[in-house]
Amino acid sequence: MRCYSTESSSLAAEKHEFKAETKKLLHIVAHSLYSQREVFVRELISNSSDALEKLRHLQATSQDVNTDKPLEVNIEVDSDNKTITFYDSGIGMSADELKENLGTIARSGSKAYIEKMQDGADTKDMASTIVGQFGVGFYSAFMVGDKITVYTRSANPGSEGYCWESDGLGSYTLSKADNVDVGTKIVINIKDDAKEYLEKGKLDQIIKKYSNFVGFPITVNGEKVNTVEALWTKDKNSITEDEHTDFYRFVSRAWDEPMYNLVYKADGPLSIRSILYAPTKNPEDMGFDRIKPGVSLYSRKVLIMPNAEGLLPEWLRFVQGVVDSEDLPLNLSRELLQNGPIIQRLKSIITSRIIKWLQEESNRDAEKYAKFFQTFAVFIKEGVCQDMANQAEISKLLRFETSNKDAGQLISLGEYVESMPSDQEHIYYFCTPNREFGIDSPYYEPFKKHGANVLFLHHALDEFVMGRLATFEGKRLVSVDSEDAGKVLKKWNDADQAESSGDSGVALTTEQTDELTAWMLPNLGTSVKEVKVSERFMSYPAIVTDFDSPAVRRMMKMMAGDSKQSIPMSPCTVEINSSDPIIKGLYALKDKDEDLARKVAQQLLDNALIAAGIMDDPRSMIKRLNDILVSTVSK
Ligand code: ADP
Ligand code: MG
Repeated sequence: MRCYSTESSSLAAEKHEFKAETKKLLHIVAHSLYSQREVFVRELISNSSDALEKLRHLQATSQDVNTDKPLEVNIEVDSDNKTITFYDSGIGMSADELKENLGTIARSGSKAYIEKMQDGADTKDMASTIVGQFGVGFYSAFMVGDKITVYTRSANPGSEGYCWESDGLGSYTLSKADNVDVGTKIVINIKDDAKEYLEKGKLDQIIKKYSNFVGFPITVNGEKVNTVEALWTKDKNSITEDEHTDFYRFVSRAWDEPMYNLVYKADGPLSIRSILYAPTKNPEDMGFDRIKPGVSLYSRKVLIMPNAEGLLPEWLRFVQGVVDSEDLPLNLSRELLQNGPIIQRLKSIITSRIIKWLQEESNRDAEKYAKFFQTFAVFIKEGVCQDMANQAEISKLLRFETSNKDAGQLISLGEYVESMPSDQEHIYYFCTPNREFGIDSPYYEPFKKHGANVLFLHHALDEFVMGRLATFEGKRLVSVDSEDAGKVLKKWNDADQAESSGDSGVALTTEQTDELTAWMLPNLGTSVKEVKVSERFMSYPAIVTDFDSPAVRRMMKMMAGDSKQSIPMSPCTVEINSSDPIIKGLYALKDKDEDLARKVAQQLLDNALIAAGIMDDPRSMIKRLNDILVSTVSK
């Protein structure tokens, strides 16, 4: 079906200024890279497709629709007049919708980016970021056009036709127009330096590249170009890798390859046809905002909800694709769709299937999965913390470094449990900023001596994840610096001592340590609630236990706002090593030179705080350290 320009706009055209941010965007768009300009085709087709989807949905749910045209996108290239015209028989726009939709920036990503941008920043750079990352939607037409005319009439009965026109500089005009078909027609006057797009072959190629899976026929000068096939209804084995890649890029609007794909069909209890993808790149990685859900909901190939909120739990928002269920009624309100019983059932079935799919992929190729995990760990960890119904299954998707394996090698909690010796009760873990810190830490020392496997966790979220998870396959998750670990260490220590049969004569006696700890406590200030002899093996003079973890302290700092301010911590326990030479020396020193002994005790505490990773400002101890050094050199 060809479109004919019989529209005529009346003379009474109102002039409107674009909003400031729209002007900025148009300025950026005008400076976009030549190589990126072809995306205007994708953007206009995708708008047409959205408009057709909306009309189809309206037709399916109400009788009162003012159109009988086939649902199509028709593109006409006219090289004599240097125009490209996009016509769709979709839902169209009213005058208010025209002003609202084409006068402001619809995309929140672009909008935020433009608001943040500095005046005088490099326009070319920004153009490439904004066009590549967020897309510029309708305005992309100004990358290739110096004048855009939009004729549109809404499909609501009784609607009139309108003409919108702009040169993309500062303003647009809006007027009533006669003989406008229901739908939207966009005429682009092609710039002199964009003539290449006036070739049909070039347009065909771009449409195949970006818009092959649009669910409506797209014609160029009367010839159909795209596939118009609902890939999710096809047989799994007949879908090629290339089709998957193209379809993934089509649904996600991303440029990477899909890491994994899942073609999932079910006939009971609900009918489901779906294709789901896990991307290769994490779209939230580069400090960009939280992404929208990536899965759209269809019923018998009619789009019901693009980027369907509520179809999957939040943590699965990185999954892209399509879910089609003919059990979904078309004419349900958004609220009912989101919270209704069918969506809830669909959600639970698909979520379980996705988790199983990722588990299967991890079994098939552990190395590939490790890459996936490193990219998407944040989402999986979010799932463990928030999706309680699926927590146990999601936790099987976690991977960690461990003390028994080299840095960079990851294992699952399942593998950890399998390798546990029969007398080991708990799963041990240690949250540290990095591996070296963990290995050198006094908390890890007794585990190393005992040859116990410890998970090394270096991610900011890990501590919360372990806290929320608490157990895995009935085994408790125990941090090496916790009280619970202390009990295990006491057992080991008792056994060691029994073996070395009273060889601990070099340690202070119980009376001596009672005297020392009683003296230390008041000298260490309010940040310490108890001083006691440690029951764990250590080559350090003292450690702290029962303290606010570094993650908790980071949170408190964040909440306090000003990072320079020191945060009061809940009082901790100091454990001393009664056979350490410094502790023995301190016992004697406190009676000879109490002032110096006090400084040594305080320094021992600070050293222990550093080892625990909770020292706020080490500069405060310089003066004391110097005092101690003075007494050493003047001996
Ligand atoms: P987005 O598509 O991300 O919303 P666009 O800049 O591409 O942003 O489009 C802005 C809005 O203009 C759309 O949301 C839609 O409401 C309206 N629009 C654009 N093209 C059409 C069209 N062909 N038919 C009906 N409405 C359209
Ligand atoms: Mg758009």
